[in-house]
Amino acid sequence: MNVGATQTRAAVLRSRAGEFDVEAVTIQAPAPDQVLVRIVAAGMCHTDSVARAMGSFPIILGHEGAGVVEAVGAAVTSLRPGDHVVLTFDSCGVCTACRDGRPYHCAAFELLNFGGHGPDTEPSARLSDGEGVANRWFGQSSFAGYALANERNAVKIPDDVDLELVGPLGCGVMTGAGCVLNVMQLRPGDSVAVFGAGAVGLSAVMAAKASGAGEIVAVDIHESRRALALELGADRVVDPGADGDLATQVVGGGAAFDFSLDTTARGEVMAAAVAVVGRPGLAVLVGAGFEPLTLAPASLAGKSITYAYMGNSNPQVFIPRLISFWQRGQLPFDRLITLFPFMDVNQAEAASAAGTAIKPVLVMNGEN
Ligand SMILES: [Zn+2]
Ligand SMILES: [Zn+2]
Repeated sequence: MNVGATQTRAAVLRSRAGEFDVEAVTIQAPAPDQVLVRIVAAGMCHTDSVARAMGSFPIILGHEGAGVVEAVGAAVTSLRPGDHVVLTFDSCGVCTACRDGRPYHCAAFELLNFGGHGPDTEPSARLSDGEGVANRWFGQSSFAGYALANERNAVKIPDDVDLELVGPLGCGVMTGAGCVLNVMQLRPGDSVAVFGAGAVGLSAVMAAKASGAGEIVAVDIHESRRALALELGADRVVDPGADGDLATQVVGGGAAFDFSLDTTARGEVMAAAVAVVGRPGLAVLVGAGFEPLTLAPASLAGKSITYAYMGNSNPQVFIPRLISFWQRGQLPFDRLITLFPFMDVNQAEAASAAGTAIKPVLVMNGEN
């Protein structure tokens, strides 16, 4: 199917400290391995704000898009116009890890997801004055009415699933649930401490609960998030602002944990996440940030530590599984979502930073 260029609008970020401007953009027709997706909604993730420190400008962010396939490139075989899709991280498809079904270990992960341009030498989107705009953020740049994705990072989902809700399955929810189900492979009775009760941390709490975990402890500075963590399956919550050493508070009077998850990327919190696991124990780090983690080598005796992109998830398999989990009431991630009109993208980012919205989702309302 051939289509020409698509006129739409997008939330464009022009500088590190600037606000998003919603403005007109023109997107090229999909390349042979790409699909053009009409975005219905797109979740906002902390990594979108981290892009301020690492993206190239101008850039269109957004990496939790959900929508409907509008057109497909000539080489696309698994998707067709009209298919409902969740967009997720991109991967090359040809490196050893990709061929082995582990796209989260893709050798080109950083280039394809964080650079903003992917492998392209010329941008495939332009502003109204003709300037190119980076539109390959996580292979999608879905803070826009339409987005180009690759066949590999567009996951077909059933038509009867609410597209306004499922975008966060492409990153935040998948990361949290994947850390528990794929990285930890948590067994019934295993204990876990979760540092940071945002969308990733709370998704981990839900997945741990659904897996029959033993004690689940959640740590967050926001009282409202601690309360929600208790509702979603945490047995105990800790306010890191309270007096005393964080690791000591998390362990309480009990035993060390089998697993911990850090979503904060803060140095001292990551160190606490390592300190609270026993021997053997595994600390999983997923936060997006740049603070170093400093540890005395012997503090790792008997312990493992890993940094996991996307919860080590193979999205073409894992996202449909998460949807079925959700439909059976075991992963109520919709409770994390606050919907914002697309035009309110700056308010959504502010609400996320302030902790008042756990998972903002920008809704196009048909105004693509
Ligand atoms: Zn993300
Ligand atoms: Zn690869």
